[in-house]
Amino acid sequence: MRRLEVLEAEGVTFVCNTEVGKDLPTETLMKDFDAVILCTGSTRPRDLPIEGRDLKGIHFAMEFLTGNTRTLLDGKPSADYLSAAGKDVVIIGGGDTGTDCVGTSIRQGCKSVTQLEIMPRPPESRAANNPWPEWPKIYRLDYGQEEAAALFGDDPRAYLNTATRFEGDDEGNLKAVHTVQIQWAKDEQGRFSPQNIPGTERVLPAQMVLLAMGFLGPEQPIIDALGLEQDGRSNIKAEHEQYTTSIPGVFAAGDCRRGQSLVVWAFNEGRGVARECDRYLMGATQLP
Ligand SMILES: Cc1cc2nc3c(=O)[nH]c(=O)nc-3n(C[C@H](O)[C@H](O)[C@H](O)COP(=O)(O)OP(=O)(O)OC[C@H]3O[C@@H](n4cnc5c(N)ncnc54)[C@H](O)[C@@H]3O)c2cc1C
Repeated sequence: MRRLEVLEAEGVTFVCNTEVGKDLPTETLMKDFDAVILCTGSTRPRDLPIEGRDLKGIHFAMEFLTGNTRTLLDGKPSADYLSAAGKDVVIIGGGDTGTDCVGTSIRQGCKSVTQLEIMPRPPESRAANNPWPEWPKIYRLDYGQEEAAALFGDDPRAYLNTATRFEGDDEGNLKAVHTVQIQWAKDEQGRFSPQNIPGTERVLPAQMVLLAMGFLGPEQPIIDALGLEQDGRSNIKAEHEQYTTSIPGVFAAGDCRRGQSLVVWAFNEGRGVARECDRYLMGATQLP
């Protein structure tokens, strides 16, 4: 709040609870402002369209995390709150979003938590193709898995594992997840793809599944409303360091430009796009 107050005192106006393209037409935005910077993030979740996907109890990670955060901030359960209390929870996806689901499920009082990760367990020390000064891609316990290990005795991640189908009861409620171990092998086109290993099937009891398998790109409505060009991965097309889109005066930065990424990149791109927007408005810039 202190930081927000500093920005407000500097002349920034924050307009909350307003979705551009819905509550505020993009035409108004383009008419009222000389430049527009889009930082709308990469929030379209990857789905898992296997048998039983429609059962009650299967949610995208962000539905679960958003309702939880809203409840904490409001101090009372929000209408969209999803509770993991007393449930066997299976989280599909082993990234940062999956980690937040592990930590949140535990703090809500889940009965058990399992995290399926399709990639292999990283090595304990750097591989030969990952030398210093690259970021070391090694096995780590993030906070969620650390809490799970402290409570249930083990890292909840099952590597090289995926779900094959969801099983429900007579009332359409999720009751189990069928899983299988996979191996990465070349397919007919010579591309590495996951292949099921026969005889490794398991059935995990589950009353809640959280899908945390990454994000496919930015939300489409605002892109369509403005008529912006997109790149091959559906992100808003704009070069790094330039941030200019196919429409003059409209810039894009952060996850909506580069795809789901990291906070450090959001900082980097936020500073870069501010510089380029200043150059566009003033003809020159002194911003770094
Ligand atoms: C669950 C989760 C866990 C993560 N954990 C980590 C982590 O541990 N470390 C790390 O470095 N990164 C993590 N990330 C990634 C990181 O959060 C993002 O890379 C970063 O927040 C991207 O910043 P951004 O400003 O580009 O977009 P965002 O932070 O996604 O912000 C986009 C904003 O735009 C708003 N918006 C979208 N459309 C509209 C519209 N039409 N009108 C008005 N507003 C709109 C959204 O409401 C949102 O507030 C995580 C991401 C998720 C989802």
